[in-house]
Amino acid sequence: MRVGLLGAGQLAGMLADAGAALGMKHTFLSPDPDSCAAPRGDFVCGAFDDVQTLTRFTEGLDVVTYEFENVPLAAAEWCADRVPVRPPVAALRVAQDRLAEKRAFQRLDIPVPAYAAVDSLDELREAVDRHGVPAVLKTRTLGYDGRGQVVLRDPAPGLLSEAWDAIGRAPAILEEFVSFNRELSIVAVRAVDGSEAFYPLNQNWHREGILRLTVGVLGDPLRDLAEEYARRLLADLDYVGTLTLELFDVAGRLLANEFAPRVHNSGHWTIEGAATSQFENHMRAISGSPLGPTGRPRPAAMVNLIGSLPDSELVRQIPGATLHAYGKSGRPGRKVGHITLVGEENERERFMSRVACALRYAGEAAIADVVESGGADASARAADAACEA
Ligand code: AMP
Repeated sequence: MRVGLLGAGQLAGMLADAGAALGMKHTFLSPDPDSCAAPRGDFVCGAFDDVQTLTRFTEGLDVVTYEFENVPLAAAEWCADRVPVRPPVAALRVAQDRLAEKRAFQRLDIPVPAYAAVDSLDELREAVDRHGVPAVLKTRTLGYDGRGQVVLRDPAPGLLSEAWDAIGRAPAILEEFVSFNRELSIVAVRAVDGSEAFYPLNQNWHREGILRLTVGVLGDPLRDLAEEYARRLLADLDYVGTLTLELFDVAGRLLANEFAPRVHNSGHWTIEGAATSQFENHMRAISGSPLGPTGRPRPAAMVNLIGSLPDSELVRQIPGATLHAYGKSGRPGRKVGHITLVGEENERERFMSRVACALRYAGEAAIADVVESGGADASARAADAACEA
């Protein structure tokens, strides 16, 4: 079976690694000649909107998938007229537009933060009058890792106008600023026959809008509700593949932030930490194969490496740690790798100090201090530290 991947970054690379182990072959399409996944298969370098490029890409493919939700819709639709595209184009359409996404959540009775659509500076002023500050202004499309977002803390007209300029005066939504206790995500997967599997809940820590740490949470009281929300989305979209739902835990209530119709950074620990990784299960799903088991018998976590890689000798000294380098050059704010950590069930405390050690190598000392200190309110304090850092 030959799988076509729209995009050729690290997610496509890890999908192809999983696919290769299942005997699949891969063709990547990306406009970037330096794409890090390119050496793992056939590589078509060209624009997503060029018909000749798309024609070359789809030649001999059995199925097409994608590694990021901002792949141009027209390219995915063009492919879908010729080859099955999984996850379905409908999922891309919703995930690409924050307003459509919020409305889909509401239609499915999945609670969301209060929000308003904003298409002009006047509408921004009205929305701030109505919802107050603090609030977050987010472009409807093309935002990721905190890009296309401005936090509004002061309703002064000059500052609103600055914020409107800062997001390029693009169609946007204004969202209440959520004082969450924890950020959570749930990675779910659905097969062609409609069977589903869910990974344990993830707790996530961000800094500057970028994910820094994920810890798999076992036995969380909110797990069933998170799973139920993800299940509604999967069924509604007639989804095939891996999907991730990002949630805010606000005093035990879950609010949906967004979903990703793809494998997700918060699911990277599943490579070493789950019986079947999110990448393998995505490839199983899109190829029409049965899903593998998602259980995790032991503690697992993931530390992101942003901007540069730490010394691999140091990482190797941490028991249960695996360094994944994406083969990308270093640049501030760029994801260049991650460290997966796995431990034993009876050594939770020692495991968390190893996670803290990996965080320090990754330059995340503030989050490391809080995670290591543990305690019932560690999550909230880690979130605070992440904001202050
Ligand atoms: P997003 O691109 O929407 O996932 O936002 C990136 C990060 O910004 C999230 O993971 C949160 O840490 C933070 N964030 C986004 N929206 C809100 C909000 N409404 N209230 C508080 N923090 C937010």
